[in-house]
Amino acid sequence: METIQISNPQKILYPQDKITKLAVIEYYIAVAPLMMPYVAKRLLTVIRCHENIAHCFFKKHPTTDRHMVKTKTVNKEIYFYLETTTQLIYQVQMGTLEFHVGSSQVQTFHRPDMMIFDLDPDDKVTLKQLRDAVRKLKSLLEQLNLTAYLKTSGGKGYHIVVPFKETMNWQKFHDFAERIAQLAEKTWPQIFTTNIRKAERKEKIFIDYLRNSKNASCVAPYSLRARNGATISMPIRWQDLDTIKPNGVNIKNYKKYISDAWSDFHFVNFYN
Ligand code: ATP
Ligand code: MN
Repeated sequence: METIQISNPQKILYPQDKITKLAVIEYYIAVAPLMMPYVAKRLLTVIRCHENIAHCFFKKHPTTDRHMVKTKTVNKEIYFYLETTTQLIYQVQMGTLEFHVGSSQVQTFHRPDMMIFDLDPDDKVTLKQLRDAVRKLKSLLEQLNLTAYLKTSGGKGYHIVVPFKETMNWQKFHDFAERIAQLAEKTWPQIFTTNIRKAERKEKIFIDYLRNSKNASCVAPYSLRARNGATISMPIRWQDLDTIKPNGVNIKNYKKYISDAWSDFHFVNFYN
């Protein structure tokens, strides 16, 4: 197996939480077997942080890491993806903290398989309201015979993820997600909005279905966030929705929250 030299293992990447690069490397090594099925073979956008989480940027294209990634050209632009845990850890060695993935796998690039509903609550929405809304959207998906999975965002919201067989093209996939979001908005107009304008979102939850397009991405399951608290976008069981906050799982407590919540994820919903 290839080995990677880790430079500056004692560098503090999260100053407030005093979390080192070594701790981040150890975290990703620990979760790699769980994480790779959702990260490998998907175009990546990563958040790199050079000194610490105060100095981060989005990276969508391969650079000096080119020898440790796979590449794919889309519309004359070169993007990258991973195939192995070594490549994942190399990303962390280079300063990557967050991994964001697209909704399709590279070998079936034009047939997405992972639909995301990113619930973004306005500041005035309470956690109880947010959780009720998550359950409402789940019930709507169930009425459509779709099995949905839940994860924390590591920030303010929850992400509901619906796996699909690769039968729809991007247009159909996006339109399907849009219609589901619009149906939720129509059914519960006091709770949900599909309006991207912040001013229209007051006291409501924005259902961001726009992640479901070819050029978009969403933070991957098990990714750390480059935010104070070193939170994680963690797959959780539906029955744990009431006890786990959107930012409730982090690099220090995550072992308690590892579960089989997503064990039958691949790929249950067939839609044509
Ligand atoms: P939160 O719960 O705090 O909203 P989040 O991960 O859902 O956390 P959002 O701001 O809602 O954060 O963004 C949703 C997704 O959109 C992100 O996970 C990320 O993949 C993508 N995204 C947001 N901003 C950018 C950006 N500047 N460049 C590339 N992708 C972005
Ligand atoms: Mn969000």
